[in-house]
Amino acid sequence: MRGDPKAVFGGLQARSSVVSAAGAAAVVFCVVLAASLFGILTRPLGFLAAFWPANAVLLGLFLRFPRLASPYGWIAAALGYLVADFATGGAVLLTLWLTAANLAGVAAGCYLARHVDGAGLDLRQPRAMFHLFLVCIVAAAASMVAGAGVAPVMFGRDLASGAAYWFTTELANNMIVLPVMMSLPLSGPGLRRKSGWRGRSLRQAVLHGLPILSVVASVFAAVVIGGPGALAFPVPALIWCALTYDVFGTALITMSLCVWKMTAVSSGWVPLPHLSDFMSAAVSLRLGITLLAIAPLVVASLNASRNDMLRRLDRAANVDALTGALSKRAFHQRAEQALAARAAGVQASVLMMDLDHFKRVNDEHGHQAGDQVLEEFGARVRALLRDGDLFGRLGGEEFAILLLGLPVQDVQRIAERVRASIESTPMRLDHGIALRVTSSFGLAHAGPDSGPVPIDRFLLQADKALYGAKAAGRNNVVTVPVHP
Ligand code: GH3
Ligand code: MG
Ligand code: MG
Repeated sequence: MRGDPKAVFGGLQARSSVVSAAGAAAVVFCVVLAASLFGILTRPLGFLAAFWPANAVLLGLFLRFPRLASPYGWIAAALGYLVADFATGGAVLLTLWLTAANLAGVAAGCYLARHVDGAGLDLRQPRAMFHLFLVCIVAAAASMVAGAGVAPVMFGRDLASGAAYWFTTELANNMIVLPVMMSLPLSGPGLRRKSGWRGRSLRQAVLHGLPILSVVASVFAAVVIGGPGALAFPVPALIWCALTYDVFGTALITMSLCVWKMTAVSSGWVPLPHLSDFMSAAVSLRLGITLLAIAPLVVASLNASRNDMLRRLDRAANVDALTGALSKRAFHQRAEQALAARAAGVQASVLMMDLDHFKRVNDEHGHQAGDQVLEEFGARVRALLRDGDLFGRLGGEEFAILLLGLPVQDVQRIAERVRASIESTPMRLDHGIALRVTSSFGLAHAGPDSGPVPIDRFLLQADKALYGAKAAGRNNVVTVPVHP
């Protein structure tokens, strides 16, 4: 119906979901097309591609974004394969057969991945690496079953070696590409945290780059020395990378190295010991590369899970679970360090805060309601702070913030903003109760010429200022200067 807003809204929603489904399918099509063209353009004349990333990329895409794996997504993927092959002169029957085999592998990988539980596949736990390995094996096997017949029918080779070649190629491709796809950081904070060369001294930057340089050195050694042992040359360098970088960085370096190895061997830069024929040499090489990739990735995921655990431990030890503020001990310790490192001329302030008549909240609404108010208070204060500001719970309903580098007027403005945010918006408690609370603030400020001031002195002065704020009627900010 034309004028009915519900119908119009429903129509808009349906249209926007069609648009987003079309957009998702277009993404899948473009990715598969680009990855397939890459594989086709790097394939040696007359046989299958040496490095065929398309299937692993598609599998990774469907695992990271399950919504893309809709019927449209599958159709778009099939079209991507077909267009790439036909555009580069692929024969009809061969193209259809290869596409079916490619999709069979991806489908089997998706099916199994949805049924491995526990660690999942995000590679932040070593167990996930083995799940991923299993997914790679099953995807390669399914693709082999569907596609191995191509070798005898189209290329006049025997079925067994064709199957072995197909399986190992797919396995190596999956093991090289999938870890990169699965560990690719997508969220903002993760990206910011990991891309940090900023703030590093030159010496630290050089030290941080050494593991990558050692991988490059191992590549040179493989070219110069060569021989059957060359495949294992990069193992220690890769493990060093795994201990230094995150899972994504390690997966990226491992992928680059493996792709280089495949290319170098097939182009003869690193000669392999003589094997009876090209097929068995390729099968051995791909298996070797697959197994080579596992070690650094297991170490990197072990390292990631250990770091996650240390972060959780650090949080449990130093952060108050109710309010998200630092514990009294952690606040004191970190504030002391920050003030000791404070350069000459940098201003410093400690803002002490206390909820007004908090005992009444507990008495009238219960301890649990008091806890909810504290939790909300902590969240509101944290929302108004910068990344580097230290926020601690000194005890009960008393908190402190250390702010560096701001003139007193700015800190007063922040205090005023916190005070207003607490006063103006009532705290929502369970059972629909909205409670209006206020808070008082004592600000101790050391100007640019103050010289070094220890944290205890700041806290003492801020406490006096807070006492003044309470005496002056509460719900206000009192400022005092601090001298050493
Ligand atoms: P004033 O305006 O002078 O600060 O009054 P007040 O009632 O807030 O004063 P006081 O500091 O004496 O009271 C603090 C109360 O906070 C006492 C204690 O029961 C309560 N409290 C301390 N820690 C917690 C907590 O973790 N949860 C809850 N619900 N209450 C707490
Ligand atoms: Mg109080
Ligand atoms: Mg108090």
